[in-house]
Amino acid sequence: TWSSVPLAPPDSIFKLTAAYKADPFPQKVNLGVGAYRDDDSKPWVLPVVKKATELLLNDPNLDHEYLPITGLPEFTSAAARLILGADSPAIAEGRVTSVQTISGTGANHLGALFLSRFYEYGPAGKQVYLSDPTWINHFAIFRNVQIEPLTYPYYDPKTIGLAYDAFLETLSSAPSRSVFLLHACAHNPTGVDPTKEQWGKIADVILEKGHYAFFDCAYQGFASGDLEGDAWAVREFVKRGVPLLVCQSFAKNAGLYGERVGALHVVATTTEAANRIKSQLSVLARSEISNPPAHGARLVSLILNDEKLFGEWKQDIQTMAGRIIAMRKELHRLLTEELKTPGNWDHIVNQIGMFRCVFSFLFVLV
Ligand code: PMP
Repeated sequence: TWSSVPLAPPDSIFKLTAAYKADPFPQKVNLGVGAYRDDDSKPWVLPVVKKATELLLNDPNLDHEYLPITGLPEFTSAAARLILGADSPAIAEGRVTSVQTISGTGANHLGALFLSRFYEYGPAGKQVYLSDPTWINHFAIFRNVQIEPLTYPYYDPKTIGLAYDAFLETLSSAPSRSVFLLHACAHNPTGVDPTKEQWGKIADVILEKGHYAFFDCAYQGFASGDLEGDAWAVREFVKRGVPLLVCQSFAKNAGLYGERVGALHVVATTTEAANRIKSQLSVLARSEISNPPAHGARLVSLILNDEKLFGEWKQDIQTMAGRIIAMRKELHRLLTEELKTPGNWDHIVNQIGMFRCVFSFLFVLV
């Protein structure tokens, strides 16, 4: 049996991590996995997460019962407010459906599965447009649910910036009602985000063509230190009435990588539609995971729902973002002032997040 199963290659990023761990060289640096490290190259547990963990462990009512199928309600509602805005009319009008997922990957999967089952695709069939390049896992996630990934131009190596005109051109020429995956902020792997003005134009064309925006938000606050600013594009699209969903991860911004805390938010046009969507997401989640893991969601719920802890989290986010930005500045200084390396290195300080610090090294990441 199983003689016909071909051997698959190991995942290159996780293979690199294993090789890194095994390497005894004292000055080793792992530029593979997109995980934050402190000044000693060590993983960093956010002080606010340590505090929330204490609170949780000292809670006499803590048990290990199942969560509801769609997750911890206090977590999903607070997570929706975080990305869509506490004053979001869509939330106030009951048009947002939120489901807890296995971090951002699970949100992408559930969103893709939902589209595969229920999106009214045109004659071209089940397709999604991904940015070229994108987080490599997007391709497999959509293929797994029989959606064919296509790409749209995103990164222009000549300018080390956004291939804005070509991107707009693909948005305009794609068949109406196409699905476009957009990185909400801190694009992986280029670190290149559209400006507000460019986002506005992208939204215009998406609306004109009746496209669907599939937002992936894995880095809110993490790269810039600004939770609100990083949610700007998503909120602007909601304001303009672009049909959309958002995949949300707390892996990076709360340093909860292994806890798998995330959510999928679908913004509908009516409460009634939101209820129908929730009922189907619930059926899908039930068959796949029955119900999501509790621990990480409880931690994030404590942090998001307590003003003091929320303030402390924002400070921890500043610490991470501040270090990322300082590292970029220092690398830029070393290359230009100290080493006098030929060429222009300004993109190192202009790009956002952990990715693509130096053109074509520090490449694609978890
Ligand atoms: N989307 C993007 C763009 C990412 O970069 C990542 C992680 N690197 C994810 C989703 C998913 O991460 P996780 O499942 O750990 O939340």
